[in-house]
Amino acid sequence: MNHARSHALFERARQLLPGGVNSPVRAFKSVGGEPFFVQRADGPYLYDVDGNRYIDYVGSWGPMIVGHNHPAVREAVQAAIANGLSYGAPCEAEVEMAETITRLVPSCEMVRMVNSGTEATLSAIRLARGATGRQRIVKFEGCYHGHGDSFLVKAGSGMLTLGVPTSPGVPAGLSELTATLSYNDFEGATRLFEEIGGEIAAVIIEPVVGNANCIPPRPGYLQHLRELCTKHGALLIFDEVMTGFRVALGGAQAHYGITPDLTTFGKIIGGGMPVGAYGGRRELMEQIAPAGPIYQAGTLSGNPVAMAAGLAMLRLIQEPGFHERLAAVTARLCAGFEAAAREAGVPLTTNHVGAMFGLFFTDRKVETYAQATACDIAAFNRFFHAMLERGVFLAPSAYEAGFVSSAHDEAVVEATLEAARAAFRSVAD
Ligand code: PLP
Repeated sequence: MNHARSHALFERARQLLPGGVNSPVRAFKSVGGEPFFVQRADGPYLYDVDGNRYIDYVGSWGPMIVGHNHPAVREAVQAAIANGLSYGAPCEAEVEMAETITRLVPSCEMVRMVNSGTEATLSAIRLARGATGRQRIVKFEGCYHGHGDSFLVKAGSGMLTLGVPTSPGVPAGLSELTATLSYNDFEGATRLFEEIGGEIAAVIIEPVVGNANCIPPRPGYLQHLRELCTKHGALLIFDEVMTGFRVALGGAQAHYGITPDLTTFGKIIGGGMPVGAYGGRRELMEQIAPAGPIYQAGTLSGNPVAMAAGLAMLRLIQEPGFHERLAAVTARLCAGFEAAAREAGVPLTTNHVGAMFGLFFTDRKVETYAQATACDIAAFNRFFHAMLERGVFLAPSAYEAGFVSSAHDEAVVEATLEAARAAFRSVAD
């Protein structure tokens, strides 16, 4: 594959953008090499500036669930832009979006639109702190909730309850308010609540982890957290930025039958436009300004073009059988990956929930963050590049989930598996 133009663009970008990118994972640092620069995207494919085509399992990190450049979404955006790009005043599409989200995700009796997943999670924990009058939050190792100060925190080595920053610039005083637990560890959660349950404003969790590869909850784990939160008066926040409208129409909360107090959504409800949202019980959401005293605002929130794109996409995914079909394609893809690896003698296991999946270079089932980090990351990196050379774009990190869209049909899956058979052989050599 020729990458001359991408290489030249990356050189230019590196002079002016930190690391040459506007979001770190795009720089390929964890897999090595250089990113390709995209010229256009269509259906299941990305096309780079050198004319190479890739089957895309990143899907803009989740939102492209109906494939790129879907005509219905594109036409909705084109119709919306004819009426102007931003009003700074209410519009009907915001109301329709709120009606759609609250209908599809009944735990959200009210919602507030924002512009990114980070904004959604930051706002949700402010609401949780404001509503409970408590300051501590609890998160899980391997979960990502955006780049807010309170989330860039890991467990301190001494006291389990006092977090320490994972990035310079995060105040230690703030990070101490974030406790970090091991995902899928029942006992750890019970112990933490016994110790400081009365101080916890909220537990925030990716109900299926999509930022440590793909790790589903053990049976009963989300229910366990629900019970602990209820017992101790803490709020349970499901960060459904990845799982929302993807693992099921009603998100992970519908899939597992657990009702959180608050839910955060991201990019997927913008169909590719910059959008996020948070929602929850009416009595909580009515504490948000201007209905209540907890402040949160946004000049571009509820943007008419973004609402139009999101509404068009949400209409498409409500077609009967949509998620069942996606889940079946994802299951077939994962089974194919496992078979191809087996043939090549490469240890591989997969996890998948709905249209999210993860490939782990290990012969053990992965249920925890520690197990995910113990996999053969170098083998993944070699596989990633072997697939890229064969025109398949997986997430450029062993710690990211893959995403399937409705544009990934039989032929696309078969082309992916053909590439995988050769790529696994090259990894095994
Ligand atoms: N929460 C989860 C679960 C995410 O995966 C992400 C981003 O990937 C975020 C929050 C942050 O969203 P954004 O990048 O839109 O700020």
